[in-house]
Formats: sequence, structure tokens, C-alpha cells
Amino acid sequence: MTTDSFDQLYAAAHPAPLNEVTLYSAPLIIPVTGPVLLDGAVAVSGSRVVHAGTRRWVLEALKQDMAAGARFEERHWHGVIMPGLIDAHTHLQYTNMAEVGRGDYDSFQAWERAFDPVYERLCETGSWKDSAEEGARMLVRHGTTAAADIVTDPEAVGALASQGMHGVAYWEVMNWRNSDWKTEGIAELVTHLGRMRQEGLPSIGISPHAPYTLETAPFVDLPDIARQLDMRLHIHLAETPMEAGRRDTILSTYSAAEWRDENWTSYQELKEAGKGASAIQFLDQLGSLGPDVHIAHGVWADKEDRRILRQRGVGVALCPRSNRITVTGRDAPIREYLEEGNLLAVGTDSLSSSPSLDVLEDVAMLYDLAREQGYAGDDLTHRLIRMMTIGGAEVLGMHVGAGRIGQINAGATADLAFFDVPVYVATPRGIEDTLETLVRHGAGTNRATVISGRVVYNDGAF
Ligand SMILES: [Zn+2]
Repeated sequence: MTTDSFDQLYAAAHPAPLNEVTLYSAPLIIPVTGPVLLDGAVAVSGSRVVHAGTRRWVLEALKQDMAAGARFEERHWHGVIMPGLIDAHTHLQYTNMAEVGRGDYDSFQAWERAFDPVYERLCETGSWKDSAEEGARMLVRHGTTAAADIVTDPEAVGALASQGMHGVAYWEVMNWRNSDWKTEGIAELVTHLGRMRQEGLPSIGISPHAPYTLETAPFVDLPDIARQLDMRLHIHLAETPMEAGRRDTILSTYSAAEWRDENWTSYQELKEAGKGASAIQFLDQLGSLGPDVHIAHGVWADKEDRRILRQRGVGVALCPRSNRITVTGRDAPIREYLEEGNLLAVGTDSLSSSPSLDVLEDVAMLYDLAREQGYAGDDLTHRLIRMMTIGGAEVLGMHVGAGRIGQINAGATADLAFFDVPVYVATPRGIEDTLETLVRHGAGTNRATVISGRVVYNDGAF
């Protein structure tokens, strides 16, 4: 063992006395990785949580930990404290495109036709940076502290970093055929990713857009490139009706036999040849899926598709409000995802297909959809809380390790949100009711946001 690693180990086991501590206390705290805390407190020093527990216990523990004459401040909140929310799918640069999101469309193609001219116009005005940063500020106001943000134009890449947020900025790759991908696409990717890495942005990923805007070669190359660079991947998948399979519930080992050994130019070509494969099965054959990938939407995922996603460790960012506006043709199979145990997270998508960037609005809709689809479990509230916190962290690969997010526990990154919902903790039923109120009616009630231990938003909370 080297001296360095010994020092690190020693320091981890013998934390230095704390010189400065902020104590956030509340009648109800949701740590996510442990039971809810009544009359709880979270002690924060620097960018980390140092203790989370009942207020009385944390105060006692701090007595041992604090240096003589240390600065101590308590900020009491009368509502619910939970980890900062995680938006698992958005495009912050499209924040200026709300006019598209307000439209009324009769098909996904109609929405795309409305999107394109507005996008072209905004490309000319060169305002992507402002638009993206405004989107990041909206997320922070709603208590969101991390996001999977898809970046289409380089000026928008610093949106998360501009607010000190966590998450991944995914460079979007779209509209390449196999031929020009090899001659131009790869070169363009290297130029853009190279520039982003130079800027020292916290975390960059790659987003191969969708099976209907990219042919086969980019779906083979991009995962390989991303993985060599320790980057994560995020794909729009099973969003549109054309991505649905025509064969239900047959193990892909059998159903792929009639097409898997041919070299298809694109998913489109395979569909036109009358093969029944879904887009998920197709990308699975190409080796594009894995535990470093999460997909957005997953609306057209049948039983076999959902099994493939579970088997490969691929999470799904559900975006229910966006699906209605872009007319994806159906809602995602939320009941089945929940019952079968897929890894789930929640995304707002962008203002070009959603009325707001408030994750809790989508969570409320997911609650209603799950019940309408027949999900009867009494754990629904708890499942949704997981999805908007540590579930989002997991699809970003940020749920474990020293910088972990989406949870409140000793050592975790101090990302917190403060919701102004009525709290009843006198009985177990009251606690469950409070959690349900948060999930169904918590949208618009965030009053403060802490990122890496810093108060970045405070609407009179303390
Ligand atoms: Zn999207």
C-alpha cells in the first residue's frame, strides 16, 4: 500500500474537525437511502453532507465533530427536505422554443414540422447559450440539481455548469447516413467533443439521437467511442410508433433469427423489408445498449423490449407530458415497467414539447397514469420518489461513489430541495399522506435549492 492511499484511508476514518457547519432541519426529511426522518436534520459542511438523522442525534454527533469556535448556523424549514431532484431527460437549449410546445399537433411528424423552422430561426439569432442557461435556472427554481441535458449546438454546452448543477451534457449526434458518417460525421464529432473537453466541463456524454435519424454505423461506432472515453450514452428510443415491434413477447433469441445476420443499412430499411423487430431489439443487436446507456421515452416498449432493457441494465427516462404534446401515439407502459422492475427515472424533456421544466409535474402525471393503467401497489408514492432522485442518479451513473447524488447520507454531495407542502407526522398514515401530497401536488412548491452545499435559490425559505 502506498503512503498516499494509506493517508486517504486514514482521513476517511478520522475526519478533520469541522470549522463550519450548516444544519438544515425540518419536520420531515426524505433521505431516499434510509427511512424518512421525523424532526430531522441534515448537517452540511463544504459541499458534503456530514450527518443526517433526527435533529437531536445530529446535534449530539456534531458536538464531537466540530472544531473549537467553529461556525454553526441552523436553517429551519417547515416543509419537506429531500435530495435535489434529477431531470433525466431534457434539452435546455430549447428553452426559447416554448411556442412549439404550446402548439396542438395531430402526429409526431406534425410536431417535427413545427419544430424545424423555429429551430432554424433561433440558429440564426445565435441565442442558444442564453436559452440553455435560462433553462438551467428554471430547473434550479423547481428544486432540480442535476440533469441529463442533450446539447445540439456547442454554445449550449455549459448550461448545467453555469448554475453549478450536476449531471451530464450529452453531445447530440443526428442526421448521418453510413457513408457521410465515416467521411464527415466522425471528424465533426472529434472536433466538437475535443472543444468541450478543453473547456473542462464537468461531465460530457454522447447522445446518438434516434433510430430514425441515424443509420447503422453511428450506432455501432458511438458506444465504442464513448466507452473508450468513460462517457455515458443517452438515446431517444421507442418514442415514436414506427419504432414498435410487430411481434409480441417472444425472446429476441428466437425472433431475431430471421434478420440478425444481415447487414442492414438502417432500422428503417429493416422495417421496410417487413421484419417485425422493434427499435430496441435492433439497437440491442448492434451492441449499443448497456448499463452506461439510458433511453428517453420508452413508450413503444413491449414485454420483450422491457426484458431486454432490464437484462442490459438500461434505464428509462419517462417523459409523460412530452409524449402527449408530440403525439407519440400512446403513453408509456408505466404499470408494466413498475411491476416488472425496470430501472426508471423522470424527464421533463424540453419546453419545445412540455409546458414546464418542473419534474414534479411529470411525476404527478405518472402517478395518475400508473393508477389508470391498473397499478395497484401501495408503494407508488415511494417508487416515484425514487425515480426522481436516486433513479435519475443511477441512469447518469452518479448514484454511488464519493460524489454521489440523489440521496441524503453522510458523505453524499449536499444537493437539497425544500418543498412547501403541509406536513403531518403524528401517525404513519399522516406520513404516507404527506409523501403522496408531495408527489401529486408538490409541483411549484420548491422554495429553496442547495447545490454542493451552496444555497443557489432561496424564495424566502430561510
Ligand atoms: Zn428529447
